[in-house]
Amino acid sequence: MVDPTTEEIIARVPDTDPAAVDTAVLRAGAAGRRWAALAPADRARALRRFADVVDRHLDELAALETAEAGHPAAVARGEAEQVRDLLEYAAGGVERLTGRQIPVAGGTAVTFAEPLGVVAVIAPWNFPMPIAAWGAAPALAAGNAVLLKPAEQTPLTALRLAELALEAGLPEGLFRTLPGAGTVTGEALVDHPGVAKVVFTGSTAVGRRIMARCAGTVKRLTLELGGKSPMVVFADADLERAAASAPSAFLDNTGQDCCARSRILVQEGVRDRFLELLEPAVRAVRVGDPRDPDTDMGPLISAAHRERVSALVPPDTPALVRGEVPEGPGFWYPATVLDDARAPERARTEEIFGPVTVVGSFADEDEAVRLANDTHYGLSGSIWTRDTGRALRVCGGIRAGNLSVNSNSSVRPTTPFGGFKQSGLGRELGPDALIAFTETKTVFIDTAR
Ligand code: NAD
Repeated sequence: MVDPTTEEIIARVPDTDPAAVDTAVLRAGAAGRRWAALAPADRARALRRFADVVDRHLDELAALETAEAGHPAAVARGEAEQVRDLLEYAAGGVERLTGRQIPVAGGTAVTFAEPLGVVAVIAPWNFPMPIAAWGAAPALAAGNAVLLKPAEQTPLTALRLAELALEAGLPEGLFRTLPGAGTVTGEALVDHPGVAKVVFTGSTAVGRRIMARCAGTVKRLTLELGGKSPMVVFADADLERAAASAPSAFLDNTGQDCCARSRILVQEGVRDRFLELLEPAVRAVRVGDPRDPDTDMGPLISAAHRERVSALVPPDTPALVRGEVPEGPGFWYPATVLDDARAPERARTEEIFGPVTVVGSFADEDEAVRLANDTHYGLSGSIWTRDTGRALRVCGGIRAGNLSVNSNSSVRPTTPFGGFKQSGLGRELGPDALIAFTETKTVFIDTAR
């Protein structure tokens, strides 16, 4: 594992080979059956204990996230807190996971929400800790066992979380982290007949491949994939607020965010004013060592990823704004604002996953919706306007799973999250998160004399 800020090796983590995956799946199956048989209140209590142990290790987990993923210290702490909050929220669902009683002729029909068994969570490197918990917390709450496969670049928080689960008293084998390569450990989990569901977050290319492999065993599958999300700014918006909010919308996590607003569409007539406001806001973002509490933006995750971003947006691409980066080691890439008219085609259409946005313009509401939808992705987006009717009409027109009005925030543990089109399949988080980790069983009881 390489610290992306110092480029120093911070740990070596052995891969999990397919034979070890097989053993882990068998053990998880047995642990899961015992876990599912616990009284619901006991399962909820165990998850709350897990949340408490996470709470006592927030600083340690945050420091690991900063070391392996380069996240600024305050952000990393927020991510550790999100793990705790997700466990608490999921614990609250255990005793509310109810079935239904459905009117039928000649008897009574009831449904049960039964756990699936063993769930594999395949996590990415961009938000290693929260995304692991997005899958693991509700899956455990619904009575499943969880095998977590972290990204090759970021296994450390995942390994620590599994240790903390044991410390909290969760049964051995119930929640394990299996580090390793996607094509080895990941595929062994995806192909394993003892794994009932795969929760995958990552690139659309790998998601497609996993979806095809899941067909072999008709596995349940949730996919959280990429995005090319627009921030749409109408002329009647509060331009100062919109421009002040825009930098974090494409620079948070150095743009390595599936919800990043990598396209900003501004209504003709206010584009120049918006850009005038945007430039100083982008320049005010403090780039540097993520351990410094004043830092807003750290490095990219790896040298390979910086090459990928540079291939989409070569460093000499003409830019409206290009920020500064520190000298010396670290996988730095500057905050970059491109003009849609002069941006490379791939930067305009592909997910960049770096600190880059492309500013375009539109004439009216219809064109705004058409341009927002002009992508095979459909994850997030934001609409800035003072006209509530227009905001709701545009929300109705945009084919994406998570929209915000006069805000660029996309994710809350308590609301459903997921993508339209090629941004994903299924939903995570929110009040129904546990249901996605159950099978519905219908039982009919004949009441005839
Ligand atoms: P990736 O798709 O290469 O890897 C994601 C995970 O899948 C890693 O754990 C990796 O080891 C594993 N993997 C890779 N190949 C596999 C295979 N054949 N079988 C099973 N597992 C395999 O993505 P990445 O480079 O880690 O992350 C960047 C991408 O993820 C971006 O394109 C971004 O859009 C996307 N992403 C989406 C979301 C979302 O919520 N929609 C969140 C984060 C990242």
